[in-house]
Amino acid sequence: MTCSCSNIPAAVLTIDLSALCENWRQLRALASPAQCAAVVKGDAYGLGAPVVCRALYDAGCREFFVAVTDEALALRSSLSADAQIYILHGVFAGEEAECLAHGVTPILNSLDQIERWQTLARRHGRALAAGVQVDTGMARLGLSPSELRRIHDKPSRLEGITPVLVMSHLASAEIHNDPLNEVQRKRFAELCVPWRTRACLANSSGVFLGQPFHFDLVRPGAAIYGVAPTVGRPNPMRPVVKVQGRMIQWRDVAAEDAVGYNHAWRAQRPSRIATVSVGYADGYFRSLSGRAFIRYNGTAFPLVGRVSMDTVTVDVTDAPVGSLVPGAMFDLIDEVQDINLLAEQAGTSAYEVLTSLGARYRRVYRCDPNRSVNTGSAHA
Ligand SMILES: *Cc1c(COP(=O)(O)O)cnc(C)c1O
Repeated sequence: MTCSCSNIPAAVLTIDLSALCENWRQLRALASPAQCAAVVKGDAYGLGAPVVCRALYDAGCREFFVAVTDEALALRSSLSADAQIYILHGVFAGEEAECLAHGVTPILNSLDQIERWQTLARRHGRALAAGVQVDTGMARLGLSPSELRRIHDKPSRLEGITPVLVMSHLASAEIHNDPLNEVQRKRFAELCVPWRTRACLANSSGVFLGQPFHFDLVRPGAAIYGVAPTVGRPNPMRPVVKVQGRMIQWRDVAAEDAVGYNHAWRAQRPSRIATVSVGYADGYFRSLSGRAFIRYNGTAFPLVGRVSMDTVTVDVTDAPVGSLVPGAMFDLIDEVQDINLLAEQAGTSAYEVLTSLGARYRRVYRCDPNRSVNTGSAHA
């Protein structure tokens, strides 16, 4: 493949596929004997679904969940036919035939979705596989419990559909002592028993709620990518992403001089300010202004002034003289300042940090400590 990118990227997003696969194996081991799928919606939480899915497939994963049909169809060619792809949002009217033709399986969320999948089954003269979602308390997606019961009590209501899993979603699994978890688990257990098909409730955080939440299949997403699964507990997942940006230039400012948009920061002493080539267009949130640190050679330097679209400014006054030259690589997300800490500083979730990382980085997929696969560019 030809590439029009320079050899010197301004910013690099490194994705450690070994750590990612290790995280998935850890989740699988925790959930065993339940099986472990992977949620790869949102382009694998922004990290690149085709590469991530192939790595997880090689690690043993055979079931993948995406949100929408386009994601499922795009992934189909990246995965062998023995990999199942489920669409969490089900199908919109008009998409049914395409889903069937590509062998991707909808999770049906409403009577309307069920009827349209049945219509397709009648047309093909055979039963079609689908998952069914029931809402156990999140009020977002799925049949109501009474709709699910009515369907089960009169099996003809599901004629033409082979239910391959019954699922629901936890609204508060990352908060271990939230009583909602047990309420949803009980509701789900009662609702799915009569179905005698695979039951699937737990997301990443749900896996850590313990065995009663595992049922037959768990479907973690975030924890695979390094997001801490439980509020207030140490993060057992390995960090997967690293973000680095290059210093473009530095300048010396006098005490009382101001820096950046709206002069939001003013120097209290003569200061050296470095400008680094990452900004909010790269998912480095504007709300991090004045809050986060970025690191050079292990030393942390504070952000000063507002985060711009393409740059941040950093107070490097305390760096040893001559140690910083234009082109120097700063660490914006690393094992110390990880996505979880950054989310806290930005006032958001680590999920949003991941999915905001943006398309401008040079992406490097590391497969093991001694080998790296440089994709050449974000769009490779
Ligand atoms: C996103 C999502 C998941 C994965 O959740 P994580 O918290 O990322 O593990 C699982 N199930 C459903 C329905 C989802 O929407």
